[in-house]
Amino acid sequence: NAPLVDVDPEIAAVLKDELSRQRGTLEMIASENFAPRAVLETAGSVLTNKYAEGYPGRRYYGGCEYVDVAENLAIERVRALFGAEFANVQPHSGAQANAAALAALMQPGEKLMGLNLAHGGHLTHGMKLNFSGKLYEVAAYGVDEQTHRVDMDRVREQALAERPQVIVAGWSAYPRQLDFDAFRSIADEAGAYLWTDMAHFAGLVAAGLHPNPVPASDVVTSTVHKTLAGPRSGMILAKQDYAKKLNSAVFPGQQGGPLMHVIAAKAVAFRIAGSEEFRERQERVLEGARIIAERLTAPDVAEHGVSVLTGGTDVHLILVDLRRAALDGKQAEDLLESVGITVNRNSVPFDPRPPMVTSGLRIGTPALATRGFGAPEFTEVAEIIAAALKPAPDVEALRTRVRALADNFPLYPGQEEW
Ligand code: PLP
Repeated sequence: NAPLVDVDPEIAAVLKDELSRQRGTLEMIASENFAPRAVLETAGSVLTNKYAEGYPGRRYYGGCEYVDVAENLAIERVRALFGAEFANVQPHSGAQANAAALAALMQPGEKLMGLNLAHGGHLTHGMKLNFSGKLYEVAAYGVDEQTHRVDMDRVREQALAERPQVIVAGWSAYPRQLDFDAFRSIADEAGAYLWTDMAHFAGLVAAGLHPNPVPASDVVTSTVHKTLAGPRSGMILAKQDYAKKLNSAVFPGQQGGPLMHVIAAKAVAFRIAGSEEFRERQERVLEGARIIAERLTAPDVAEHGVSVLTGGTDVHLILVDLRRAALDGKQAEDLLESVGITVNRNSVPFDPRPPMVTSGLRIGTPALATRGFGAPEFTEVAEIIAAALKPAPDVEALRTRVRALADNFPLYPGQEEW
């Protein structure tokens, strides 16, 4: 029963160093967040010891009476949060939730129509090296070359011409809301299923600050760890009609034993996501993103060739377009890292540079909102990013300003180690 520092000082050092990195920098990767202490506690608990293949009340192992309580709570809470008829909370990750959704809705060789990865889609929506691009025929849709938005008239034309089995609404890098009712009527017209992947914006939906895709979609998948701020994992919501197929696609179709410690941690996260504190936090997420988008579209930034895709944002992220700027995506990511702001480079639609370099940055506000940032702090963050993206920034001075913000909003206060 020896503590980690005695059993494995090297890994103990990794945990310590990572905690201090998270504390000392500003986390602005749009897909990341800080899971609350209660979620971390549950995910690091004795539930990790339990095998529970099957579903609550129908397990292939004994001793499942307590983990059944946890899984039932997770299911009930997530159904209530999103108004869903059915939920499966067992997927280990977003990608596995997506694999199961596709396995339930289509056969290998049938056609899948999702947003092109290079235009903001996800690997699992039909990228050629991913299982989704290998198993299924893919007809990707893109964004408009001028507006950088999904044009529903073009999606309709393409769906009627291609007749896919499944249409995907959802994205990893897109700064606007999608029109789920329009997707529904296109899917009906084309004879397709509608699958929405709300991995990125699920927290905004839970807070009532983004349209809910559940009523219009046949199946909705999500991660639990992005805007939702839960443990790293996935989940599936659907109409009751798909319940049997989805359950069997997850287990035994995709997975063996469910991660009961993570499922219990999802239950905790769903409870928190129904709270007033969570709703208020998501408001700050959106406000922060708007403040940064506005600052990065001001003339003193624009004159250096930096712009914001679609001219702003409706969600928790901003896509900075550097195609006409001096810095490429990789250089801008490294520069921001040197001032203490962590973001990721991201291809922009019609990007002339390769994916390892890119001409864009994806900047997100969820983690900083969780840390407590509001309008004044996001205004200061926006000033720092704007200054960093202009020529010859004073990196040391910006680093000092970042550190002051980080120090004023302690992360996991009182926690010596993890
Ligand atoms: N779906 C979308 C839209 C995502 O952005 C992501 C993650 O980046 C995933 C699915 C996959 O989630 P995971 O990394 O948990 O497999």
